[in-house]
Amino acid sequence: MAETVLIAVAWPYANAEIHVGNLTGSYLPADIAARYHRLKGRKVLMVSGSDAHGTPITVRADAENSTPLAVYQRFHEGFLDLFQQLGLTYDVFTSTHTDNHFDVAQKIFLALKQNGFMYQQTQEQWFSPAQNRFLPDRYVEGTCYICGYENARSDQCDQCGSLLEPGKLMNPRSKIDNSTPILKETEHYFLDLGKLEPEIEKFLTDRASYWRPNVLRQSLGQIQTDGLRGRPITRDLDWGIPVPIEGQGGKCLYVWFEAVIGYLSAAIEFGALTGDQNAWRDWWTNQSTKSFYFIGKDNIPFHAIIWPAELLGLSTTFDEMMGAENPRRLVLPYDVPANEFMNLEGKKISGSRNWAVYGRDFLTRYDPDPLRYYLTAMMPESRDADWDWDDFYHRNNDELVATWGNLANRVLSFAYKHWEGHVPDPGQLTAMDEELLASIEAGFDTVGKEIEAVRLRSALQEAMRLASEVNKYLDQTAPWTAVKTDKAAAARSIFTAIRAIDSLKILFAPFIPFTSENLNEYLGYSDRLFGKQYVTEEKDSLGNHTILRYDSSEAAGRWQPSQLQPGHVFQKPQPLFKKLDPSIVEEERKRLG
Ligand SMILES: [Zn+2]
Repeated sequence: MAETVLIAVAWPYANAEIHVGNLTGSYLPADIAARYHRLKGRKVLMVSGSDAHGTPITVRADAENSTPLAVYQRFHEGFLDLFQQLGLTYDVFTSTHTDNHFDVAQKIFLALKQNGFMYQQTQEQWFSPAQNRFLPDRYVEGTCYICGYENARSDQCDQCGSLLEPGKLMNPRSKIDNSTPILKETEHYFLDLGKLEPEIEKFLTDRASYWRPNVLRQSLGQIQTDGLRGRPITRDLDWGIPVPIEGQGGKCLYVWFEAVIGYLSAAIEFGALTGDQNAWRDWWTNQSTKSFYFIGKDNIPFHAIIWPAELLGLSTTFDEMMGAENPRRLVLPYDVPANEFMNLEGKKISGSRNWAVYGRDFLTRYDPDPLRYYLTAMMPESRDADWDWDDFYHRNNDELVATWGNLANRVLSFAYKHWEGHVPDPGQLTAMDEELLASIEAGFDTVGKEIEAVRLRSALQEAMRLASEVNKYLDQTAPWTAVKTDKAAAARSIFTAIRAIDSLKILFAPFIPFTSENLNEYLGYSDRLFGKQYVTEEKDSLGNHTILRYDSSEAAGRWQPSQLQPGHVFQKPQPLFKKLDPSIVEEERKRLG
């Protein structure tokens, strides 16, 4: 495994609150991976930001009689709040509305043009005669000509996931006033995907052995059945990044072209913030970097075809533009582990019908780790999943509390009482003790391998299985009764259990970091497992923007078994988790709809 890891996380449209489906789809798995790789001692950069330019934002601004800037800033602040509460450790969570991002996106546009992967063509675009203006694709809905879904956006169908050719949508209607738009000619720049097709196909074929089947189906599969054609990357819009060419007034870079560039521009911003202008190159021109793109399945074509196409088309030109003496190519995605969707109580999550569990609302009533635990245990890695309040309640009480939380609390409280806050001296360990410790130790390989392959559900299951092993061990050695008759035997099994718990704390840490950090403290360590999140505000010609950062300077990189010694002093423990009352199931169901 490479020692340099880029964790690229989907850029949320800053036009809606984030719900549990978004969290389990991309943001949480990204954080679990980032925390794990940092614990392994690797150099990690986790980047993302608010997508400030999408037409969903102008749609919302129109609806609220507000401005796109105000809408984006409001939701952006909400994201920063949620990500801190839930512990999503972005090294940089910025936005697409910054001078830096404008500059990088415009450079990439020019580099692709210079390299011959851009052409101009007149195309037909939706135009509203009622409003006398061109309509962005997302303002127009209609019937998908591939699968027949009636609420397809004109550029992409959420039902079958296909990218659509806008002019081919059936029964088009304007989202603004329901009027029927017409097609009108306008001239745009196109990204020449056809010319890049052989390279894109090779890029995908090289990764086919380990990519998720759904991701391959929507990338390599689409290329092999339909081939690739050029796609327009400019739009008749006034909110966005201006096309950096004279005579193109009133035109902007299309949001799907520029938002993906954020993975690169955020890394460049990271360098500027840390005072090392070249820092981005550690991840972006260092070919041994492994980059993981955490996204939902509705974003597959953009990350598995279009973004790689932009990177391939750039060759070494972008690095050259950035002043490199020996310009290099930019690093292509290593994996795009797109997740499926999460439904809610058997129905599709819908903000407009209030059928959703929102992250920030949830956290007014519950702690972050139970949310992270449930969303990982249910993560829609290979098929759609379902949030079920009864299941949440049971998993919290039967797994998190009963199997793991009680284990840690019971053992530490017992040891605190009988050995006055010191780890007991075990004397000679028995074969049974050694066997338990060996199987926990093996967890650092097995859990780690699963996380590296982005099979997070299975990684968490394995950690939980190991916690059950410790419970079984304690059932057999019964130190609670042995302490009265054979204190040496009790000391041996309590020592063994504390060591196992100390290791499990690390194995659980990427998933449930808050409680692992608490447990680390109860266990008497003075260092921290993880760093600290903080927010900074930056000013540029577009205004102020706030950035979520992560300071890992105090964090310990230790993905390794416990070395806790007899005599080590620890604190009086507190319970790690709260047991929930069964009444929450009905209460929460009443809140829905
Ligand atoms: Zn469709």
